[in-house]
Amino acid sequence: MTVKDEAKKEPQGLIGRAMRYAQKAHAPQKRKSGEPYFAHVLATAEILREWNLDDPTIVAGLLHDTVEDTGVTLEEIKKEFGNEVAFLVDGVTKLGRIKYRGTEATVENLRKMIVALSEDLRVVFVKLADRLHNMRTLSALPPQKQKRIALETYEIYAPLAYRLGMQQVSGELQDLAFPYLYPKENRWLEDTIAEEYAEREKYLAKMKPMVEKALLEHDLKPLEIDFRAKRKSSLYHKLLRHEMNLENIHDLVAFRIIFARTEDCYAALGVIHQLWPPLPGRIKDYIAMPKPNGYRSLHTTIIGPDHKIVEFQIRTKDMHELAEQGIAAHWAYSQSKQGGVGTKQRGAIEELPWVQDLRRWQETQTGQHPDADSFLEAMKVDFFKNRIFAITPRGEVIDMPVGATPVDFAYQIHTDIGNSCVGAKVNHRIVPLNHELHSGDLVEIISQKNKQPSEDWLGFVKTSQARDRIRAALRKKHTTLSRKEPTKSELKIVARDRLGLFKDTAAIINRSHVNIVSVSTLTAEKSGFAVVKILCETADKSKLDKIVLKLKQQIQEIKEISYKLTA
Ligand code: MN
Repeated sequence: MTVKDEAKKEPQGLIGRAMRYAQKAHAPQKRKSGEPYFAHVLATAEILREWNLDDPTIVAGLLHDTVEDTGVTLEEIKKEFGNEVAFLVDGVTKLGRIKYRGTEATVENLRKMIVALSEDLRVVFVKLADRLHNMRTLSALPPQKQKRIALETYEIYAPLAYRLGMQQVSGELQDLAFPYLYPKENRWLEDTIAEEYAEREKYLAKMKPMVEKALLEHDLKPLEIDFRAKRKSSLYHKLLRHEMNLENIHDLVAFRIIFARTEDCYAALGVIHQLWPPLPGRIKDYIAMPKPNGYRSLHTTIIGPDHKIVEFQIRTKDMHELAEQGIAAHWAYSQSKQGGVGTKQRGAIEELPWVQDLRRWQETQTGQHPDADSFLEAMKVDFFKNRIFAITPRGEVIDMPVGATPVDFAYQIHTDIGNSCVGAKVNHRIVPLNHELHSGDLVEIISQKNKQPSEDWLGFVKTSQARDRIRAALRKKHTTLSRKEPTKSELKIVARDRLGLFKDTAAIINRSHVNIVSVSTLTAEKSGFAVVKILCETADKSKLDKIVLKLKQQIQEIKEISYKLTA
């Protein structure tokens, strides 16, 4: 049911009252397009309803611009709609005050966003719905404003939605912003791809019955088979990497097959590979190994009829919903469980890695599965209380448990950065490596080549990733040691024996600041030659070469001299 219908059905309900309240508050206001301003807040609320979010979130959607743009105060909202709604409206208002002014401000904006995000994710959902509607109606604004809002959307909100697994929203935001940021490229793309799209769609339409027939022969009944055109903005960035040649883009239009069960996805992959040969190296199992944002699907690229290249994406309905809606789908799911109307089985829904983390954490807390109520509570309070979000100098967000240190941060970025880390700056100030990080911290890692991780780090790191990698590096170090890098050398001298021969030899070695560990001498009495083996405490070849040269020059009796490195 839409928000509008619900307000009509239950005018005294929370949503009905919020509708009238917002309508009254925004009454004299008009948008640049000439529409009443209320149309914007209603559209925002309808988007939140489409994402299946809870009533307080939808009410916050209706009221999100009242405090900033009308005479209404937060106190009045609190009195009228309660603390929860007031908290959400306040969060959205604060987020709205951040204005994007080019790259330098990006990190600072992200920092504020992250702090809001770690307080209550629903604030971010309202902001994303608000931005989505603003982008859909951006054409009404003056060009200067269009450009700023489009840039902010492209660089902050679309990546944020992506990180939350909301690919549908992220993609739509990017595509809406693209024409404002790249007008020329957009025109070129539209002229160029229109024909190509039509051709590829015709081709896939011809393939579709073949796919359906083959699947049916194996008792595989997909819920859905359709084609998906690649998004304009991601197509453009891919073209940049492929010399702007459409021939090189294999997923301009791709097949998408949706099943009820995971097993069927793998079986269907096999059937398709029997029909057409796959391109080597292009089979991706994101079901077994999800992308970091939680995306799960099988991808393959095959050589189809007439030797044309076609991409397939195969996944379950749950994976598909998650791919489109991401974290919002989880939120809605835990809501419906709480209300007792949930139809999905726990475990059937595919989960973001951090949700799995949460579950593991809760199981260790209580020794059993949490009920839906505490699950939602944990998502809202405990989980975010136990996570922090720190930022790299390039604006990437690193998600870690509370108590995480710069060493954890370094290993989250890259194993090599972790291994070579010697120091860190937090918010431009040097801190010790065991410094506790907080949400919104800007962290720079100082690294040094050929540095080895220290065993002490194991005492303070908080992530298993850091712990495992430190251990691996230490193990490697130990095995290299046990493989016995040479640390000593054995000089072998064959010389005509005389009194004081060894004493003179030892003196020359000692003058080169090399310690002698042991000496063994063998004298062949008949020939009068001695074989002297001297174990020296150095494996430095240039030092040894110099010693050899000096010995040859200064001791006439020497006939042969050589050395080898030993452990
Ligand atoms: Mn708004």
